[in-house]
Amino acid sequence: MKTILILGVGGLGCPAALALKEAGVPLRLVLVDPDRVERSNLARQILFSEADVGQPKAEVAARKLGAEARVLRFEPSTAADLLRGCDVLLDGTDDFATRFLANDEAVRRRIPLVHGAALGWTGQLLTVLPGRSACLRCFFEGPPAPGALPTCAEAGVLAPLCGAVGAAMAEAALAVLSGKAKAGVLRRWDARRGAERPLALRRDPLCAVCAGVAS
Ligand SMILES: [Zn+2]
Repeated sequence: MKTILILGVGGLGCPAALALKEAGVPLRLVLVDPDRVERSNLARQILFSEADVGQPKAEVAARKLGAEARVLRFEPSTAADLLRGCDVLLDGTDDFATRFLANDEAVRRRIPLVHGAALGWTGQLLTVLPGRSACLRCFFEGPPAPGALPTCAEAGVLAPLCGAVGAAMAEAALAVLSGKAKAGVLRRWDARRGAERPLALRRDPLCAVCAGVAS
């Protein structure tokens, strides 16, 4: 059975995990999140209800989906353990440091990554096949300076957009497993215009993370 590790059981991780559960494919889902359910999460984090407030998100979601929970943060000290046996890494976390760490750790271990993000009215998704397609750092190089961009908590995020990006992340993970991944294209949604604008990304031959990684 294939293992999909989902980082962040929030606005993106909830719909992604639910869509994977309902895909009808036997999968081992491992949900990673250090946080507890807060009342402000309930509008867009569809796996949680009032009764779950105060409980660890990963445990509540795992119980509802028959998945496994890891109530901890994905960081340099936990990455190796979490990624052992992982076939696809789904990153729906909402801070830049974790996103780039997820990219770096997955690429170095040649684990396919599905990166998703949603902020305000825009969402994005990138499938990374290490050694074969552009990674996050080929394009963005690194996290923005602290405070340069608003966080999800500051800017807010549109609930239906989360659902759309999360479902697309699940679809992208299944595409990786079936060998049909569309990698190297940054999908970008603009909910205000109702438009999706894909952007083809080239591998950077000098990328600090993936340049030396063979497929
Ligand atoms: Zn790269």
